Amino acid sequence: MDLIQGAISPNPPEIRQARHIIDYPLNFSIILRPMKYLPLMVNMSDRRFLIVGGGNIATRRARIISQSGALIDVVAKNATEEIKNISIQKGGVYIERSWTAEDITEDYAFVIAATDDHHLNQEIREACLALNIPVNVITDASSSDFTFPSTIYRSPMTIAVSSGSASPLLARLLAERINALIPDSYGRLAGMVGKYRHVVRETFANPDDRKHFWGKVLRGTVAEHVFSGNLEDAEALLEHYLDKPEHHIGVGEVYLIGAGPGDPDLLTFRAYRLLQQSQVVLYDRLVSKPILDMVSSKAKMIHVGKRRSHHAVPQANINEMLVEYAKKGLRVARLKGGDPFIFGRGGEEIEKLAEQHIPFQVVPGITAASGCASYSGIPLTHRDHAQSVRFVTGQLRDGTVNLPWCQLVVENQTVVIYMGLDGLPIISEKLITHGMPPDMPASLIEQGTTPDQRIHCATISTLPALVEQASAKPPTLLIIGTVVELHRKLRWFRENTDINDSQFVE
Ligand code: SAH
Repeated sequence: MDLIQGAISPNPPEIRQARHIIDYPLNFSIILRPMKYLPLMVNMSDRRFLIVGGGNIATRRARIISQSGALIDVVAKNATEEIKNISIQKGGVYIERSWTAEDITEDYAFVIAATDDHHLNQEIREACLALNIPVNVITDASSSDFTFPSTIYRSPMTIAVSSGSASPLLARLLAERINALIPDSYGRLAGMVGKYRHVVRETFANPDDRKHFWGKVLRGTVAEHVFSGNLEDAEALLEHYLDKPEHHIGVGEVYLIGAGPGDPDLLTFRAYRLLQQSQVVLYDRLVSKPILDMVSSKAKMIHVGKRRSHHAVPQANINEMLVEYAKKGLRVARLKGGDPFIFGRGGEEIEKLAEQHIPFQVVPGITAASGCASYSGIPLTHRDHAQSVRFVTGQLRDGTVNLPWCQLVVENQTVVIYMGLDGLPIISEKLITHGMPPDMPASLIEQGTTPDQRIHCATISTLPALVEQASAKPPTLLIIGTVVELHRKLRWFRENTDINDSQFVE
């Protein structure tokens, strides 16, 4: 595989990760064998393409070519409506007859032999060779002068992936991977760079300074503003840097990132990208090891994890640390389990940043309720069971749990309780006293979404004893409601441990 042109430098983290995911023996920076096809980007404005043939493949090629400024002529006895339209729209002509050798003229920059007759395609090729016109033969890639790579387009950025005609499918699969890793907004970023190119050139006369400046801009807060759709802030910040070139990297930024419930595959692309570029990472106990392994090895890692009854680092100090590091001009990730805005104190942590005008952004994560529900086959809502779902925290305070019990004992509602393990006996008792049927299905999910996930299913009256006997360990999540019954039918995730299922024994 040869990466033809990239919006990305050789071997950036995204590509390293792609290599890790797909496990192909890729090497983008060192090309070991000579390239059969030399990657070039050709300006096709007002140049002519001839397509001989009007079937489906010819139409697909026309569709791709039509994205450039080329004129497209088509010669074919039969052609799809689409290729006819493309040809006309692109200022070309559709000639409705069989091909003749006179059709190949020096007016054409490129020709595609796209008939379904292999011999005819070879004749077209011969005619092109005689005039030195590069030709693509759809029935014989090996005798083609050029091929069509899989492309990923983020206007004006274009990435093309080619397998050198060995396996177009493999090239397409890789292009799909790259496509998923590169935000749409890369195009917007390129557009902005284009707009400021001249000003930056005037501000930084020295090419090394310029390179350094753009490196910081493209990897830093300006780019992140563009990715989060904040073009105005991005431009304002860039202009601010240009006003004071000597301080242009002075301001740090904080990323409040949700790491999801445990399975590293549930991390968002955005979270992954920001983690890769963070210089300091403050993380909680709930963040799983495989996710911590994704952080750049150069980053300073600080564990500020909390245990249930005490904080390893008091909340006020965490807030303070975020401010301090950002003020030093560093990119700081505050990495939290699940979603930072669901029982995650995310709001408190960024309040201080907002007061001090430190740039920050929030990256949502998959909250434990979504993760545990999916990985245990318990839909939180279901037309036959629950039309609403309620998330509450069951944390013990002064030996008791304070919850609006009456609002939790409602028909057709699923109740999800975070931090409810210690308070489970009280929760069970209170729900029953407030009218919940004692045989209401209830489950406790331990270490949800990880290979150590354990699911304990019982009823609201029997769950505390079952969980006690199983010595369940945090983090655990309680799901209460008739949706729990669906677990037996909808379970799909095969964890390492057994299901502790007292209610559903056949
Ligand atoms: N912000 C987090 C919640 C933090 S509170 C989120 O959105 O998920 C911590 C509680 O989340 C734990 O006590 C537990 O109830 C729940 N939790 C987090 N990860 C979990 C997991 N993998 N399995 C079960 N419960 C989990």
